[in-house]
Amino acid sequence: MSLNPIRPWRNIERRKSRQIMVGNVPVGGDAPISVQTMTNTITSDVKGTLDQVIRSANAGADIVRISTPDVESTAALRDIVRESPVPIVADIHFHYKRAIEAAEAGAACLRINPGNIGDAKRVAEVVRAARDHGCSIRIGVNAGSLERHLLEKYGEPCPDAMVESGLDHIKILQDHDFHEFKISVKASDVFLAAAAYQQLAAATDAPIHLGITEAGGLVSGTVKSAIGLGSLLWFGIGDTIRVSLSADPVEEVKVGYEILKSLGLRTRGVQIISCPSCARQGFDVIKTVEKLEQRLEHIKTPMSLSIIGCVVNGPGEALMTDIGFTGGGAGSGMVYMAGKQSHKMSNEQMIDHIVELVEARAAELAAAEKAAE
Ligand code: SF4
Repeated sequence: MSLNPIRPWRNIERRKSRQIMVGNVPVGGDAPISVQTMTNTITSDVKGTLDQVIRSANAGADIVRISTPDVESTAALRDIVRESPVPIVADIHFHYKRAIEAAEAGAACLRINPGNIGDAKRVAEVVRAARDHGCSIRIGVNAGSLERHLLEKYGEPCPDAMVESGLDHIKILQDHDFHEFKISVKASDVFLAAAAYQQLAAATDAPIHLGITEAGGLVSGTVKSAIGLGSLLWFGIGDTIRVSLSADPVEEVKVGYEILKSLGLRTRGVQIISCPSCARQGFDVIKTVEKLEQRLEHIKTPMSLSIIGCVVNGPGEALMTDIGFTGGGAGSGMVYMAGKQSHKMSNEQMIDHIVELVEARAAELAAAEKAAE
């Protein structure tokens, strides 16, 4: 990412990490910060799982994780991988055979902790399968499932214990001359996760997968993730993120993108700037924004749109957005294009009109991008 010399207070300098591949998605180095989610279907239900994968990918997920707790799941994985538009990470906890089956089934990455799968022979077999099938590995340390000896040493889950666990797992992979790995140190407590990630970032150059685990429902989990992931990303830590919510995976993807968009780390689709509305509004801002969010969901081209209730803030916000609408009076408002007043539009027709303007601008930008290739 290029740094902004005019507004240096917006700059985020990313930690320098190695780059690995998760299928065709680069993670780490100067790759865009990828957004992940995880399916919550029964994996052996190929159709249901694939449907979630595709909906998540359409919402912007770069990578999707699927748990493979049994042999039926790893068998289904082959069909899912074949149809999936994005690389699939197989989530394995302890069973080394599931890891080998998942690698053979075409998983792009295995989420497995090599220290948890038994003797050296099993570790060697899993690493060989990963290498033979072009899989990367994610080491996933979780404060809730730390190794007993570390809990005894440190007394409770703490950043030192989590990082030590992570480095132990890293060493096992390095001893097998395997370097295509990324790592996470998740906790449901924001302070613990943030401190562990900061220590981890200083201790390894491996790409880092960020997450606040078991963050909660849609609203509480979003806030918690925005604080935890947001503060780490702000300080340059994190190469790929997953927001964990007790909600549809599509919501996780949307929230992940919004966190990255808020920090200017990645853009996708229409970013709507809207006022909270008040008695001065010239049209129903809240309902309009709700409708526009739905109607513009399909737009992938990064673009900004300001929907402001009145002239108190409308013209100012419109100056900084690609397209703007500001409420006026007498049932109509002003449309702004690239910051300049363009034309009046009635409140009744403004939603259809703005959707048309955004679609036309997206097509224009896509054509320009194609011509530049
Ligand atoms: S921009 Fe106007 S309508 Fe919106 S909150 Fe401010 S004063 Fe109220």
